[in-house]
Amino acid sequence: MKTMEVVMKLSAAQKDRSAGVLLGQAIGDALGVPYEFKEPITAGDAFMAGGGLGPYSPGEWSDDTQMAVCIAQVSASGADLTNGDALADIAKAFDKWRYNGASDIGNQTSAVIARADSYVMGAAMRASMSKRELDTEWFSAFQAAAAEYAADHPQSAGNGALMRNGVVGLTRLTDRDATAAAARAVAALTHADPLVAASCVLHGEAVRVAVTEGRLDIRAGLDLLSDDERAQWSAWIDEAEAEDPKSFSSNGFTVTALQAAWSAIHHTMPVRPTPDHVNDALQLAISIGHDTDTVAAIAGALLGARYGVSGLRHDLRQRVHGWPGMNGRDLIKLALMTATAEAEAIVARPLPGSCPTRTEVLAVASQGLRHTNVSAQR
Ligand SMILES: [Mg+2]
Repeated sequence: MKTMEVVMKLSAAQKDRSAGVLLGQAIGDALGVPYEFKEPITAGDAFMAGGGLGPYSPGEWSDDTQMAVCIAQVSASGADLTNGDALADIAKAFDKWRYNGASDIGNQTSAVIARADSYVMGAAMRASMSKRELDTEWFSAFQAAAAEYAADHPQSAGNGALMRNGVVGLTRLTDRDATAAAARAVAALTHADPLVAASCVLHGEAVRVAVTEGRLDIRAGLDLLSDDERAQWSAWIDEAEAEDPKSFSSNGFTVTALQAAWSAIHHTMPVRPTPDHVNDALQLAISIGHDTDTVAAIAGALLGARYGVSGLRHDLRQRVHGWPGMNGRDLIKLALMTATAEAEAIVARPLPGSCPTRTEVLAVASQGLRHTNVSAQR
């Protein structure tokens, strides 16, 4: 019942911050798109010019947010993302995206999905069904393909799971262990390297803490890692704060991608919290160079979680859009449904004592939507 009470009493500010996670990610992504793998620019010069690998239209988000939407469309139902059925749904969505929507895609993600798809196709042929009709196989096919890729490639800790991870931090706002387990499970669909899982645990817990407590703390999840991982990541975070953000320009690696994103956030941290921090940090993140959209997407999810929709620039909120035909309002809705669906999912399970009706829970969720949509129009 304690969990239920916390969920049911999400404040207006917590709802605003929940709603900012995917939108903050998309703004960082679309701001970084024009500069991906190009000569680094000066902080402050980034704008939503489009182009990049897509090529994208001005304000259009790229593969980072496209994959996050695949996850969000499952998490919006309140699904437990450690559950095999939910992971199979995400795997199916990734596959559909790769073959029908992906405007650009990372090498590792592409190879793993293609291999998983071939496994599912084989199973479908044996069952005389289409791959879309097959409900089983998807989760195990992705897990196997990701593990095989990691076994075949010594450097398989790419940033392709971390870049889509922000929304996972919203799935169980009252349960840090469940959030960490979900981060590990969703990452492992395409990236089996333990460094990827750890980076997603730290990022997911930082998002959860930013939403629930209104503070930025990348160390919040260190105790969710093993002893060895904790020591290593603690040193890497210290390094991110001590060194010039530009020293993390080799940021295709999940460790340096998180270091780059956090270094940009840390080095622009204001004495008193102000939404100006969002733009300052994203501009610095993009000026680091290399995988600019991904580093800015990772940072943007965290900044959106801290400052909320109301802390994101109105003009940028209005401009972002992307696959599958969505805009900023759609991202707000998906994020809020994910954050508030937890209550619905808990109601669906038998709980001791009295609990709110489904109608009461849905009323709370719709209040959140109304609140945030008003914010988005300011
Ligand atoms: Mg991208």
